[in-house]
Amino acid sequence: MREIFLCSICNVSNGGCKEDCAYCMQSYKYKTGVEIYKDKPISEIVKEAEYFADVGALGFCLVTAGRSLTSQKTEYISRAARAVKDRFDFHLIACCGSADKESLRELKNAGVDSYNHNLETSKDFFPKICTTHTWNERYSTCENAASVGLMLCVGGIMGIGESWKDREEFYKAVASLKPFTSPINFYIPNPALPIKKDVMKRDEALECIKLAKSYLQDTRLMMAGGREAVFGGEQKEMFDAGIDAIIIGGYLNADGGESEKDIEMIRKYGMDIAVVCH
Ligand code: SF4
Repeated sequence: MREIFLCSICNVSNGGCKEDCAYCMQSYKYKTGVEIYKDKPISEIVKEAEYFADVGALGFCLVTAGRSLTSQKTEYISRAARAVKDRFDFHLIACCGSADKESLRELKNAGVDSYNHNLETSKDFFPKICTTHTWNERYSTCENAASVGLMLCVGGIMGIGESWKDREEFYKAVASLKPFTSPINFYIPNPALPIKKDVMKRDEALECIKLAKSYLQDTRLMMAGGREAVFGGEQKEMFDAGIDAIIIGGYLNADGGESEKDIEMIRKYGMDIAVVCH
């Protein structure tokens, strides 16, 4: 029976980012009204991890807002990683922005298995959605993570004004990094954000997933933000198009559905929930 992997996110710091990524609710430039906080208490992170372990998630991702993995963040994320790994058998992911090899090695030594850093879109289109850092900086961070032995989680966001050519170029670049997992996000419009696009239509989204799968046959393709907005309660076609994993329990600043309902839905579609993250 086909198995679907469940992954979960813990935003350990949120909002107030000084970068200007035009699709992101956490940028200080856009008055999105998201809650701003730093360094969630470790005990709270462990509590969230416990919930996701209980519902059957195999992945747990520690996410910080902001451009890069500073030394202070490295120390904090390492403490959080150890606390989670001591208690739960998660595939542990960290998502903390641009990073050098030394900091990434520290995360690995603290028990982090994968590093998530998205290329987001094609190299050519990237300057249209972000002016405060470069696509090359993102690519280099992915290379740094791989070079210290971290597995890679590298994907991006669709529906932000990019062309099909951009999508092809983007997936060629993602494939060149040979990621273990690749998240697909579909843009969720918000009046405070500068990108004025509607939610992507289901058919186009399915084509995006098929395109991703054609480039990433050995990569676990994960549906992330925008799943509910694009597919509503009818998500079977998304799995048929090539999705292998989903994020449960909500996203960084968008609510998801209830985890239990997602699990019920997967079973109703005749698939099972993966119990080993291999
Ligand atoms: S760097 Fe990350 S958190 Fe900051 S605005 Fe860009 S996507 Fe959002």
